[in-house]
Amino acid sequence: MPGAAPGTPSDALVFFGASGDLARKSIFPSLYRMVKAGTLDVPVIGVAFSQWSVDDLAERAREAVRAKHGDAVDAEALERLVGLLRYVDGDYQDAATFQALRDALAECARPTHYLAIPPSLFGTVVQGLKAVGLHGDARVVVEKPFGRDLASARDLNAVIRDAFDEESIFRIDHFLGKEEIMNLLYFRFANAMFEPIWNRNYIQSVQVTLAEDFGVRDRGSFYESAGALRDVVENHLFQIVALLTMEAPTYQGYGAVQAAKVNVFKAMRPLRRQDYVRGQFVGYRDEHGVDPHSDVETYAAVKLHIDSWRWAGVPFYLRTGKCLAVSAGEVVVNFTRPPQALFDDAQDPDQHPNRLRFRLSPEGEIGLSVRVKRPGEEFVGHEQELKLPTESPLEREPYERLLADALRGDSALFTHEDSVEAAWRVVDDVLTDHAPAIAYQPGSWGPEEAAGRLIGDDGPWHNPAVLPGHGGH
Ligand code: NDP
Repeated sequence: MPGAAPGTPSDALVFFGASGDLARKSIFPSLYRMVKAGTLDVPVIGVAFSQWSVDDLAERAREAVRAKHGDAVDAEALERLVGLLRYVDGDYQDAATFQALRDALAECARPTHYLAIPPSLFGTVVQGLKAVGLHGDARVVVEKPFGRDLASARDLNAVIRDAFDEESIFRIDHFLGKEEIMNLLYFRFANAMFEPIWNRNYIQSVQVTLAEDFGVRDRGSFYESAGALRDVVENHLFQIVALLTMEAPTYQGYGAVQAAKVNVFKAMRPLRRQDYVRGQFVGYRDEHGVDPHSDVETYAAVKLHIDSWRWAGVPFYLRTGKCLAVSAGEVVVNFTRPPQALFDDAQDPDQHPNRLRFRLSPEGEIGLSVRVKRPGEEFVGHEQELKLPTESPLEREPYERLLADALRGDSALFTHEDSVEAAWRVVDDVLTDHAPAIAYQPGSWGPEEAAGRLIGDDGPWHNPAVLPGHGGH
C-alpha cells in the first residue's frame, strides 16, 4: 500500500454523497471558494444514487453556492467549478458503481476520495474502491462520526487500513479547521508566559461549553443514532481539551502535534456513570424522524480527569446541548485563588478566581479576568476583564481549508487512528451505562443536575453571553 506521498497533489477529487445535505450546505460552497482561491483545479467527480446527470449535479452546485453566497457570487469562478464537475450514478453496494468510477477516472492516477456519506457505508465504499484498484496512490477523507463506539471504530480502522496506509487516511473533523480552534494551539505555544502556570498548581478547573439555541432541525433521524455525547463531546470537546492540555510539540510538524494529542487522550480517565449528566429538551420527541419514546440525549455534561503529572486533580467540565439559551462556544480556565485572604472582600462568594476565557464561536475573543482595587480607603476591588477580540476570521469555511489540505496530503488538521480509538475508550462505558435523559426546557441552560451535583463547589457554570452586535449563530 504505497499511497500518495505527502505533498504530492491529488489529480482528482471524488466526492461520494454529492446529492446529500452536507454537500449542499457546506461542500459545494467550499469547492467554489477553493476554485476561486486557486486551490482546486482538478476534476471533481460526484457519486450518488439519485439518477442524476452531470447537468443535475451542476444545478445543485449553482443552487448551493448561491444559497450561501447570495449576490456576492463570482459567476466566473462558479462556472469554472461547474466545468470541473463529472457525475457517476450508482449504489455503493453495487460493484458496477466502482467500475464506472474507474472509467471516469481513466486519466487520473492519484485521486482523493471524500466520503460524505452515511457512516454505515464508509467500509462498503472503501472495499468497493479497493476491489477495482482505486486505492493505490489515492487518499481517502472520511467524514465524522468515525465509529459509534470503541469496537466499531477499531473495525472501521481495520477495514480502511486494509486498503490505505495511515498517511493516506484523513479523518475529518471540520471543527479543527476553525480559526478559533487553531488559535488555541497557537496561543498556548506562542506565549511562553503562560507555561509556568499552565498546570495543576495554578489551574483549579476548566469549563468548556458548546451551546446551540436551535434543535435538530431536519436531522432528527441522524440525531437518533448519535446523541450529544457522540456528536459533540467525544470529538469536538475532546479535541478542544487536547489542544488546551497537550505538552508542547517537540518539533514543528504534523507528527509532533498528533503525538502530543494522543498522549492526552490516553491519559483521560474513562468516564463513569456519575461523571455524566444527560438531558433531552422538551419537544424533541415530536421532531420528524425521532422515536416518540426516545431517550437520546440532546444535552450532555461530563466531568473529566486527565491522569497526567501536569493535570492530576484538575477537573474538566464539558457540556453541550441543543435548544439552550444561546448559540456560543467558550472555554474558561479558572485559576486558583490567592493562598491567603488578605483583603476584606476575599470571602465574597461572588468573587471569581482569575480566569482566562477563550470565546470560540460565533466570534473569537480572549478575555483575562483580574481583580482591581476600587478607589477609596478600603482594600476592596472588583473583577475586570482584559478583552482581546481576535481578528474576524477570513471568509474561509473549515471545509475549504481541510479539503485543500487533503488534496495536498497535509494531514496536520486531521485525526490519527490512535486518537480516535483512545477518545472512544474514554466514553465507551457511559455510552451504555448511563442514567435516563432528564427533560429540560428549550431556552434554558439544561438540567439542574449539571449545575448542582456534577459541578458542585467548582461551579457555577460560566454561561456564555451573546455579545453585542451578534445574533448568536
Ligand atoms: P445525507 O443522508 O443527506 O446524504 C447521503 C448521501 O449519500 C447522498 O448523496 C446519498 O445519495 C448518498 N447515498 C446514501 N446511500 C447510498 C447508496 N447506497 N449508494 C449511493 N449513494 C448513497 O447525509 P449528510 O450529507 O447529512 O451526511 C453525510 C456525512 O457527513 C455523514 O457521515 C454525516 O455524519 C457527515 N456530516 C454531516 C453534517 C451535516 O450537517 N449534514 C455535518 C457534519 C458531518 P442519494 O441521495 O442520491 O441516495
